[in-house]
Amino acid sequence: MRDRLIVGNWKMNGDLATNARLLRRLTAEWRAPGGRVLAVCVPTPYLAQAQSELRASAVAWGAQDVSEHVKGAYTGDVSAAMVAEFGARYAIVGHSERRQLHGETDAVVAAKARAALAAGLVPIACVGETLAERERGDTDSVVAREVDALTDALGADTSRIVVAYEPIWAIGTGRTATPEQAQAVHAAVRARLARAGAGDVPILYGGSVKAANAAALFAMADIDGGLVGGASLDADEFLMLGRA
Ligand code: PEP
Repeated sequence: MRDRLIVGNWKMNGDLATNARLLRRLTAEWRAPGGRVLAVCVPTPYLAQAQSELRASAVAWGAQDVSEHVKGAYTGDVSAAMVAEFGARYAIVGHSERRQLHGETDAVVAAKARAALAAGLVPIACVGETLAERERGDTDSVVAREVDALTDALGADTSRIVVAYEPIWAIGTGRTATPEQAQAVHAAVRARLARAGAGDVPILYGGSVKAANAAALFAMADIDGGLVGGASLDADEFLMLGRA
């Protein structure tokens, strides 16, 4: 039985006062029922705040991206080792907003996952298709290509990552995949990962997950939790998701 993992992706939201209120609610009320992990991936400037607010709690934290490079002349980038220094456990890599807005390729995403692992972080590698790709019937081939880039680059280390299936048409749109649609892709992703000996990695679903739809999604055999954007900014909603 795989653990349930619920990860909040704050994206570029928050400020010191708002974060403090949210993190204090999480630390006060998250009791970490057995087999469940709650985590928040915060903007890089707030890693120190997450560390100081969460260090004595059962809530884990992480970053939303890391550089594929170890160090050097990469102005504006942040290395995985820098993120790890702040006690982070996770780093999201290959979120569709980074693939689409920053031109990150499958190869770059795989290199970022490798850099995160080398620094002791758990990469949460995102994969998913656009609406046009789904409508063309290309979902399986797109997701397989993205997963294969990870397994080709990571080999046996693929078993140390988390994968998040995030249909791009469902992110921030209020339109979520049905549990059956999500399960079908998760099962295909798991089969692909199994070819690299990584059939047991947690596979999260992301895309307009909220307390109202989480239980049905998380009940599916290959859905091990959620990567949650908007709903992770609301303490009540996020705590409900953790308990769903
Ligand atoms: C995300 O940011 O990864 C995400 C899934 O966003 P939302 O939950 O808002 O759709």
